[in-house]
Amino acid sequence: MHVDAYDDRYGNAFLLRAAPDDRLPQVGMPADDAMRLIGEELVLDGIPMRNLATFVTTWMEPQAQRVIAENLHRNYIDHAEYPQTAVIEQRCIRMLARLFHAPGETTGTRTQGSSEAIMLGALSLKWKWRQRREAAGTSTERPNLVFGGDVHVVWEKFCRYFDVEPRIIPLRPDRYTIGPEDVEPHVDENTIGVAAVLGTTFTGHADDVSGINDLLVRLREERGIDVPLHVDGASGGFVWPFLYPHTEWDFRLEQVRSINVSGHKYGLVYPGIGWLIFRTRDDLAEELVFYENYLGKRDATFTLNFSTNASMVLAQYYNFVRYGFDGYRFIMQTMQANARALAERVMAAGDFELVGDKDAEQLPLVAFRLAGDHDYDEFDVAGQLAAERGWMLPAYTLPPNAEHLTIMRALVKQTLGRSLAETLADDLAEACATLDAKGGLHERDRSRVKTGTGY
Ligand SMILES: *Cc1c(COP(=O)(O)O)cnc(C)c1O
Repeated sequence: MHVDAYDDRYGNAFLLRAAPDDRLPQVGMPADDAMRLIGEELVLDGIPMRNLATFVTTWMEPQAQRVIAENLHRNYIDHAEYPQTAVIEQRCIRMLARLFHAPGETTGTRTQGSSEAIMLGALSLKWKWRQRREAAGTSTERPNLVFGGDVHVVWEKFCRYFDVEPRIIPLRPDRYTIGPEDVEPHVDENTIGVAAVLGTTFTGHADDVSGINDLLVRLREERGIDVPLHVDGASGGFVWPFLYPHTEWDFRLEQVRSINVSGHKYGLVYPGIGWLIFRTRDDLAEELVFYENYLGKRDATFTLNFSTNASMVLAQYYNFVRYGFDGYRFIMQTMQANARALAERVMAAGDFELVGDKDAEQLPLVAFRLAGDHDYDEFDVAGQLAAERGWMLPAYTLPPNAEHLTIMRALVKQTLGRSLAETLADDLAEACATLDAKGGLHERDRSRVKTGTGY
């Protein structure tokens, strides 16, 4: 008898066939089979907790997971049916506004991540700029936005999608963030705003936000052009308040008008949540807020997306009430201590050197590169480390004009405790020893940039 005849009894039909791939299958399969099929496909993915490349949260407490699982059927945008979810969202916005030292009543919105928050924040900059220009009777034809080469790709994306000239300040060969002297030549009356990064995806350092603020204050006083500053705190917005509370990067600086932060990075929530916070209500262009009543009640929305589950908002609130300020500080300090321990052990082995100023304020991560001469490069080390131990630790080149540097970066998150961090350092040394013995894995080609460094 043909093997197919037994699949019902002893196994699953999908084991004998390729997974449905390019068309909707005519007939389905039992629920257990569908679940198994997906589970078995996913073994080909990496293990999220061994993914040291990502800034995005890969672990939450079981109680938080329960809150998430129990609320996936609740549509966040449906404020009419789920008013308490909306109340909780507003609480989160107020907590963040206060954490970022907003001077008084403010406004903000929950987004799918920092990318949506940045699109919306930058749109508001564009609208506010146009209002100022129209009020002055001047041209509104050529808006530009100023930012450094150290930003995330979303800033260029915004410029292309929404027709704004990007003025990208190249990095210097030996400095991977920007300051006021870099910004000044690019700013003029058509500048809708300047974006500064708090914790770059490349080395985890911050642009000189307070220096850029001072420059913009001076330009306002001397030349009468009021250029707002937006802080991209995708990662840093949940790190600086706890590790560097005295550093002014937020609404304590008068030109800082809006801030984005990813709840799913150091906000410690699973993917699917970000926040945009304005300094005052007046910093949000009113024309961008839409009023409708078709969900049953007059409602205001300021989003690019609409429907999504409410779970991640609730999970963010869970973390806020569960950890509080002290809890977040403890977690950030733990990650920082483990990042330092990892850095020390990696440096002690002698194959690597740190990238960037190690005394500067930084996200809890280790950015490093091969020191001295080797017959292999950082891409080889990344490949060898993955082959030997399954660690996902990316190698990538820096943006212009620092693209001659290939670096590796390890995010030290909540789940990378001291002994795992030490094991990782030893595994790196081991990978180098293997490569010393057998040489690189492939031809050297510095143009091969591993994607995914910005997550
Ligand atoms: C991750 C990141 C983004 C994009 O954020 P998402 O939450 O992934 O949309 C933007 N800017 C910086 C600095 C980032 O680190």
